Amino acid sequence: MIPAAILDGILHGSAAQQRRAMAKAITLLESTRADHRAQGDALLTQLLPHTGKSFRLGISGVPGVGKSTFIEALGLYLIAQGHRVAVLTIDPSSSVSGGSILGDKTRMEHLSVNESAYIRPSPSSGTLGGVAEKTREAMLVCEAAGYDVVIVETVGVGQSETAAASMTDMFVLLQLPNAGDDLQAIKKGVMEIADLVVINKADLDPHAAMRADAQITSSLRILSQHGNPDNASHDTTRWHPKVLQISALLGQGIDSFWNAVTQYRQLQTANGRLATRREKQALAWMWERIDAGLKQAFRAHPQVKHLLPALQRDVAAGRIAASTAARNLLSAQSGQALSAIE
Ligand code: GDP
Repeated sequence: MIPAAILDGILHGSAAQQRRAMAKAITLLESTRADHRAQGDALLTQLLPHTGKSFRLGISGVPGVGKSTFIEALGLYLIAQGHRVAVLTIDPSSSVSGGSILGDKTRMEHLSVNESAYIRPSPSSGTLGGVAEKTREAMLVCEAAGYDVVIVETVGVGQSETAAASMTDMFVLLQLPNAGDDLQAIKKGVMEIADLVVINKADLDPHAAMRADAQITSSLRILSQHGNPDNASHDTTRWHPKVLQISALLGQGIDSFWNAVTQYRQLQTANGRLATRREKQALAWMWERIDAGLKQAFRAHPQVKHLLPALQRDVAAGRIAASTAARNLLSAQSGQALSAIE
């Protein structure tokens, strides 16, 4: 299929044509072939005017916390209200170990066969930055196809949470009701980026869930005061991170979750923070990809390849300063005189 047909399928196709065109588009975008990449870029440029209208929701939590149970319940709830829901995943484990934390089992059984849902597993190779980039592009494809809620799911390991938060409008952290997990999240810095913390499996131990709620609520308050002195909690024009208790398995609390999301969206749209967040995200992505591209080109440069092994050994053994080695390599790559490089 040529890109024009893919574009037409995505924008104007029947449900089945649309699905096929989306899969083709995403495959093109995930390809490492230069000609595919060029076609993918041309397609993205054409799709871009049709993107941006969805709500982008990031959902994270450790394996077993109930992400797929929750997303299935939420997705079906939203579809019943007339929404179309796309679920994309960032699973860095697939590129590290070849296995996948998110993809190994049958997930979201009912949602995955629903006409109004589109579920796409994580790209399975590359660095986290590369995997995240593909997910971000897949998100644009889904938006152009009219999916108005895009969920980006990620596992609570490594840096994947930051990647998911940096491409979504709202970042939700799922937690278990037992104490201790919240402290872990604070240590890892994940709590700081959460707009909403959801304690799942509240049915298992309601008392523990209450305690966790109180604990996390006070942690969030402290974090928000520390991180942002002008972040006065009485400022009603902006969102303050909240904690909710739910049971994804029993379908309890899904409506209050969506109410909170809606409230967040209204508030952050009215005060302009949602638009600012998206602008910042787009620019940060551009620079992140420039950095990655430059580094890749640098490593592939013949002179750098030639000098790198010995210089790495010298730096490791303390025979040459790291900064001197870096300058030598940069000058070798650019062919410039050393003095020209800071
Ligand atoms: P994921 O690894 O985060 O996607 O977690 P899953 O959605 O696969 O859930 C892991 C296990 O927890 C499954 O056996 C679910 O049935 C169970 N589970 C999920 N949500 C709840 C809940 O709210 N209450 C209870 N009791 N079990 C749940």
